[in-house]
Amino acid sequence: MSGASVLYHLEAARSDEQRAYMDDLERRGVCVFCTEHGRTEVAFGGEHFYVTRNLWPYRGTLEHWLIVPHAHVRTFDELPDEAGGELWAIKRRLKGDATATATVERSGDMRYNGGSVAHLHIHFVTLDETPERTVRFRVSAWAESEA
Ligand SMILES: [Zn+2]
Repeated sequence: MSGASVLYHLEAARSDEQRAYMDDLERRGVCVFCTEHGRTEVAFGGEHFYVTRNLWPYRGTLEHWLIVPHAHVRTFDELPDEAGGELWAIKRRLKGDATATATVERSGDMRYNGGSVAHLHIHFVTLDETPERTVRFRVSAWAESEA
């Protein structure tokens, strides 16, 4: 996908490096999750989704994967029901022997769900009992009291 008006929500960047990366892609109209641009290293894929490692894994996770639809969609309900079944199978495969996992899926308007990329993606992390730090995902806009 190229030429879209807004692909990234720069305020959601978690570092200056990530913000600069997103800003560059935005100016060039490149969606980081559309594989046609060839930027994404795919670990494995299915009919509806592919799996890649998060370039910026959250500290405190053992593994941080992104499950990304092949189609450039913003919301989960743009995908057929069969994609949900495939998502479950992918999560089972990624879980492996992990005793704990967490999934975060931000869908819809990224200005309000804490997301940074206008292409649906599911964060899937594996966890253990002694994280380097507590893992936190923001899933809303910033509240005015915290801005
Ligand atoms: Zn895309």
